Amino acid sequence: MISEVKGIKYEIRKKRNVKNINIHVKPDGSVWASAPLGASAKEIDTFIAEKAEWIRQAQAKCKLQREERLSRNDDMFALSTTDCLFRFNPLADRAWALIRHRLKRRFPGGRPQIKVVDEKSRWGTCNPRQDYISLSHRLMRMPDKTVEMVILHEFCHYLESNHQAGFHGIMRELMPDYKEREKPLKGKR
Ligand SMILES: [Zn+2]
Repeated sequence: MISEVKGIKYEIRKKRNVKNINIHVKPDGSVWASAPLGASAKEIDTFIAEKAEWIRQAQAKCKLQREERLSRNDDMFALSTTDCLFRFNPLADRAWALIRHRLKRRFPGGRPQIKVVDEKSRWGTCNPRQDYISLSHRLMRMPDKTVEMVILHEFCHYLESNHQAGFHGIMRELMPDYKEREKPLKGKR
């Protein structure tokens, strides 16, 4: 379950064997709280709100560490999944905002999750029956606008499973410049 307080999104994991609420900030900046089974959502919210400043600092530190890794690392292929997700997730949020009103089904976590894969032949894949899309880590070499377009393309498969005219009609409607954004992908993989 994802909750939000003071602009901090976090996931609650209730556990039998914990006595107190504990906060964990993962290397990708996402937050989860472990809490005793009996803790109420309000109690956990209050606790997170009290620690908001500490959480933001921990997130800022993670971000800095990632940026340092990125600046040292000119071989994008060696980037970790965490680095990829750090970049892809906000772009997925943006793409999701364009299409969410069209999709009726619910997804755990609010939208299809992103899986990073070592895929050479495709930039992304979507099986509309699953709760996630896969993205090739090779997209790390592509501009934000292009990555956002690829993500929207995969989300679009929840509406149209093929690449017929209907599919392109939706893409054009949701992202009028999608053809332009596609250009950097041509001939590269
Ligand atoms: Zn497709």
